[in-house]
Amino acid sequence: MDNKIQFERLVIAAYRLPFKFTKLKNGYKVVQNSGGLVSAILSLSQNFKKRSSYIGNNKIVWAGIAENLPDNFTAKKFENEFFEIAPVNLPQKLNELFYGGFCNGLIWPLFHYFPSYSVFDNENFKAYEEANLKFCEEIIKIIKPGDFIWVHDYQLFLLPEMIRKKVPDATIGFFLHIPFPSFELFRLLPHHWRGKIINGMLGADLIGFHTQDYTQHFIKSVKRTTGFECLQNVIYTPKRLVKADTFPIGIDYEKFHSACLDKHVLAEKQRLKIHLSDQKLVFSVDRLDYSKGLLLKLKGYELFLERFPGWQSKVVFNMVVVPSRDNIKRYEKMKNEIESTIGRINGKYSSLAWRPIIYQYKSLSFNELVALYDLSDVGLITPLRDGMNLVAKEYVACQVENKGVLILSEMAGAAAELNEALIINPTDSTEMAEAIFNALEMKTAEKHSRLERMQNRIATYNVFTWAFDFFNQTFNTKEQQRLISVRVIDKNNSSQIASAYQNADHRILFLDYDGTLVPFSKYPELATIDRSTLEIIRKLAEDPKNQIVIISGRDKNFLERQFKEMNVTLVAEHGYFIKSAGSNWETTITIDSQWKEAVMKILIEYVNRCNGSFVEEKTGSIAWHYRNSDPDFALLRLHELRDDLAEIIRVSHNKDIEILEGNNVLEVKSGKYDKGQAALALMKNKHFDFIFAAGDDKTDEFLFKVLPASAYTIRIGLSSSFAKYKVPDIPFLLKLLKGMEP
Ligand code: UDP
Repeated sequence: MDNKIQFERLVIAAYRLPFKFTKLKNGYKVVQNSGGLVSAILSLSQNFKKRSSYIGNNKIVWAGIAENLPDNFTAKKFENEFFEIAPVNLPQKLNELFYGGFCNGLIWPLFHYFPSYSVFDNENFKAYEEANLKFCEEIIKIIKPGDFIWVHDYQLFLLPEMIRKKVPDATIGFFLHIPFPSFELFRLLPHHWRGKIINGMLGADLIGFHTQDYTQHFIKSVKRTTGFECLQNVIYTPKRLVKADTFPIGIDYEKFHSACLDKHVLAEKQRLKIHLSDQKLVFSVDRLDYSKGLLLKLKGYELFLERFPGWQSKVVFNMVVVPSRDNIKRYEKMKNEIESTIGRINGKYSSLAWRPIIYQYKSLSFNELVALYDLSDVGLITPLRDGMNLVAKEYVACQVENKGVLILSEMAGAAAELNEALIINPTDSTEMAEAIFNALEMKTAEKHSRLERMQNRIATYNVFTWAFDFFNQTFNTKEQQRLISVRVIDKNNSSQIASAYQNADHRILFLDYDGTLVPFSKYPELATIDRSTLEIIRKLAEDPKNQIVIISGRDKNFLERQFKEMNVTLVAEHGYFIKSAGSNWETTITIDSQWKEAVMKILIEYVNRCNGSFVEEKTGSIAWHYRNSDPDFALLRLHELRDDLAEIIRVSHNKDIEILEGNNVLEVKSGKYDKGQAALALMKNKHFDFIFAAGDDKTDEFLFKVLPASAYTIRIGLSSSFAKYKVPDIPFLLKLLKGMEP
């Protein structure tokens, strides 16, 4: 395992503390909460103790809500060398709206693909913001420099950004334990909530999901919600790069595997065996929840009894349902339905000597759970949707005798790793019934080989590997951020540029238009320059020592309209046309534009094949804009278009045609000119003692590449660039330009 981890303390922010308090006559009892996160982090804390080689004091501080917190409670009582808690207090009403309302009444069903169960309520969202703020206040109170803040799950989407605002250089990870749904589901949230949730998460340095599908869904939602540039898993927000990646949570494999040989578990197994005689055991354990597909599981099992009557009285299904949220009407109703279905099936098939289903509505002790995993012949884990499903992994870990077969729903995140299980669709009762039959009939050698592969995988990528992988990736992301930030202009650079400007007598400033002086709009004609920006340019242009060049891919008429009667040089269509102040447009370029007809035909085809895209024809080029299209779909079309265009270029034998890609636009033009060539032409035979160029796009790279090393070249945004410096956004650049004039 990696030893690079460098933090002082691990600060966990999760909705609940890992235990709750139960009142006793004199005092209170502390009981550990169930659930994957709790087991994972507690295992981790015990593991920290064993490792002395990690840097820092390896202490875990856990901030969360304490249930039934006693009046005389002091966190100090829980403090030890390795563990500390920071209880967050939420008034009951607030908690109901936040947790019951927004989290479990909206996010949980929506993210588990039950949109019809979702309740959209403004009050609940307000409570959600308020509760996240309360968590933030608590975290700010306790964190110290060097801490790693790890925010968990859907209750705290807004927290990373809130912490980031207060502590800009904090190290923050966010992990989502439930699925991140497809954008079609996510977009059901009102615009305003969507934006807050995505930006809230982007306050972290690293955002983790259980499966690659969830990661991709998230990245798509980022693109659609914010328009930020995403390259693979890296998201370029204006200020920082953030990484989203896949970390399938693991279990403490050794703990489960070795527990099967523990004497208490063996005794438990013995006790259970007596009730089974020689019957085979099918086992399932799920929290009471509609996402777990409990009724469908019963339907599948009933069909199995019907289709394979030879197995009747030879198999018992032990269905354990762990109590959860049963004070909510929907859950209570579901529980009643489950119980009546079980009653009906048992009524139909039972004999004096046999009952097909043994139902338990309760929590199991660890020993009971392990004994049941170990003893059973089939693990029937069939959720309709599940972020991961740790039970599936625990079941595999507990197969010390290699006799169990796991039947697993393809809708569980765990299916991505446990593909040697019998993977089924839980809505298909026939498939489930046949899988139960196949599992019961499976030969020992096949069981062995399936289990061995799964066990090897989950023993290696266990909960510790998961956590340390997450930490390492966070530090890598921090390092990437650091490398980029070295080039982000700071106060020193700004004043250095300003003084170079003031000391110069012959200055030339190249300014790109879209994304540099003016933000992007839905349609190019809407992106007009505003007064205050125009004023900054006018001031610079009035200085006789300056030559201001607006250098753009735009057509000449548009540029002329924006900079009417100003003392600036205009470069249109990437250098095809140049116009000095007070003169007419000129071009020195002659191109053979026969290719345009064929290219136009193809581009129109792509407009029809990609909703929202459109074509812009200029004198020397044609551009295909896809800013308003679904980004992933446009990317697919873009790949195809590149191929089609390459073919046209090949067939035309015209070596002059070039494909230029910019921000959400592909342009076909002659390769005889670009912004770099235009800039060199303007500087030819002249001496400038201050050269400045700013741009936001790949097309500006031509400019950055050709300018002398002494030039101050600046790229807007954090993407990789030939520019010497970067600025996060347009306002930053405008401030820099404004600051140049004394
Ligand atoms: N579990 C538990 N008590 C029980 C039964 C199960 O604490 O009576 C644990 C189980 O060992 C597993 C977790 O609860 O670690 C359930 O996690 P899973 O991902 O399967 O489902 P979730 O309940 O988080 O949706």
